[in-house]
Amino acid sequence: ADAAMYAAKRTGGSSLAFFEAHMAIDAADHLQLQSDLRQALEDNQLELYYQPKIHGRRHRMSGLEALVRWNHPRLGVVGPDTFIPLAERFGLIVRLGHWVINEACRQVAAWGNEGRHMRVAVNLSVHQLREVSLVDSVEEALRRHGLLGSQLICEITESVAIQEREITTRIFEGLARIGVHLSIDDFGTGYSSLSQLRDLPARQLKIDRSFVRDIEGQEDARAVVEAVIKLAHALQLTVVAEGVETQGQRDVLLSLGCDELQGYFYARPMRASAVLGWSLDASTELTPAR
Ligand code: C2E
Ligand code: MG
Ligand code: MG
Ligand code: MG
Repeated sequence: ADAAMYAAKRTGGSSLAFFEAHMAIDAADHLQLQSDLRQALEDNQLELYYQPKIHGRRHRMSGLEALVRWNHPRLGVVGPDTFIPLAERFGLIVRLGHWVINEACRQVAAWGNEGRHMRVAVNLSVHQLREVSLVDSVEEALRRHGLLGSQLICEITESVAIQEREITTRIFEGLARIGVHLSIDDFGTGYSSLSQLRDLPARQLKIDRSFVRDIEGQEDARAVVEAVIKLAHALQLTVVAEGVETQGQRDVLLSLGCDELQGYFYARPMRASAVLGWSLDASTELTPAR
């Protein structure tokens, strides 16, 4: 069968519309997509983009988050929100996750060879947490590339952390032994209670974009963020705000004591090859004029 047909037929070539309609695909398409994704893993069609995290007070890059993209041979660049769920459904997420961890470590080592000590966060799927060998394979990737555990952060979403508390705790203990920190992503969307927050085995909280979006105009959004930051600090967690798009949002977040900021205001996710140039340009721009 012509592999190009299944996408073109249905959507006139729009990858997003096609993937959004994936619930309705028939068995043949399902097989085609599955083999496309397998092929993607074998043919190096996946690529990590990197988005900086900015240290709030020191006005410089504190690290980067790796965000996976699929350079599909016919559909173009496809984002993770569309293919990660497919990879999970097709049982490919563990392999994909291994690739992400290894590739992020390889890239950090390459930057290290250029004299830049970097720290990178990777996102983990719940299926990866359930793998007994996760901690071993993280350790193996660090060793293979000669990195310190402190150069890697693992992000899991709040809802996964809460729903899979036992697994999360076990994984955290394993990661902590090798110096890797755990970060709770999309915080505020998982409906955890204060006591659950206290028990979360993490070092960092990332406040969900939805709170940041409303922080300038809405007093209640600001109050929530302020409370989360205070609480997190009381629990020795650092706080990252995600989705910072405006200078106004940045100013409010800094005034509330947010530790790190991330968002389009500073930089969009970029190819690895653009990172060193960006950080050099940014090192002057991030410092406010006095
Ligand atoms: P996330 O980890 O919460 O990542 C933040 C998402 O928000 C990214 O979307 C990023 O590009 C986007 N973003 C960052 N700053 C801004 C901003 O200022 N405004 C707006 N509107 N958006 C912003 P992306 O790259 O499409 O990733 C979406 C989600 O896919 C991620 O959410 C993460 O949950 C998942 N993901 C990405 N890479 C991986 C991966 O390697 N493995 C797994 N399992 N999941 C991944
Ligand atoms: Mg994340
Ligand atoms: Mg997030
Ligand atoms: Mg998210």
